Amino acid sequence: MAEVIDGKSVAEDVVRTVKALTAELVAKGKAKPGLAVVIVGEDPASQVYVASKSRTAKECGFHSLQHTLPADTSEEALLKIIADLNADPAVNGILVQLPLPAHIDAGKIIQAIAPQKDVDGFHFINVGKLGTGELDTAFVPCTPAGSMLLIERVRGKDLSGLNAVVVGRSNIVGKPMANLLLAANCTVTIAHSRTKDLPALARTADILVAAVGRPEMIKGDWVKPGATVIDVGINRIPAPEKGEGKSRLVGDVAYAEAARQAGAITPVPGGVGPMTIAMLMANTLASAYLAAGLKRPT
Ligand code: NDP
Repeated sequence: MAEVIDGKSVAEDVVRTVKALTAELVAKGKAKPGLAVVIVGEDPASQVYVASKSRTAKECGFHSLQHTLPADTSEEALLKIIADLNADPAVNGILVQLPLPAHIDAGKIIQAIAPQKDVDGFHFINVGKLGTGELDTAFVPCTPAGSMLLIERVRGKDLSGLNAVVVGRSNIVGKPMANLLLAANCTVTIAHSRTKDLPALARTADILVAAVGRPEMIKGDWVKPGATVIDVGINRIPAPEKGEGKSRLVGDVAYAEAARQAGAITPVPGGVGPMTIAMLMANTLASAYLAAGLKRPT
């Protein structure tokens, strides 16, 4: 059976380190890192994520700010808030919770965030830095950055020559994940909905990352024996066995079958999920160190 990669415990390690490095920064007489989270509208899932981000920021010793705006906030008003946060020296990281209401152009809002405060790593400058291997100054999107840390825990930092297959090509997960694996010297293939014979391709992977959004799509016999399997997917499915109307979370990988083949595998929940918020804290800390003229912690 595969080693189960405990994302919760790795995320707790990251948060502990961020907390300690925040205390060091403050001991040097510098301002504590500031994270501003902006949420527009009342999407319940977004509210849960935002509350969790603000809570973890406080736990790290950050200055934590939250802008909760009504669903009918205009694009112009939101751009003004972003401009103010860009100019505020107490703010090192700006996160605009997605999705935004349909009348707001999310792309325009993201590109309005100052690249040095773009702790989500979605600004073109940061996307470009990751794509060109400028990892020392790039902000990397939190979910792939967290997935990479989990891979390194199992495989070490140098992944030279390993075959990696990333299933999914979104700008938030699949593409940055592929760039990180490439920077670590993997031979990378990105698969998507038009890929032919995905099972055969997946079987070539020493590292298989699933970021699709389809419950348990990746079957056990798609997994190469000994492979490291990172399941980014979070899917809610009905669970009548738990009672009427109940549901449960599953990943994009059929966990029980895949765990019989894999060398190591992330569970859902408790794998990649907890890493996302932890890496947001790490990015905000890095931004604060850079703003203070200090070397970015690794
Ligand atoms: P997107 O919907 O943006 O992208 C999904 C990708 O999967 C697309 O590239 C799509 O291909 C591909 N795909 C869809 N169907 C198939 C198929 N049958 N075979 C192969 N590829 C397919 O999703 P995200 O990248 O945003 O998220 C992916 C999953 O990760 C979701 O479950 C999401 O909830 C989860 N997630 C988890 C996070 C966490 O914190 N753990 C954070 C972010 C996301 P095409 O481009 O051709 O359409």
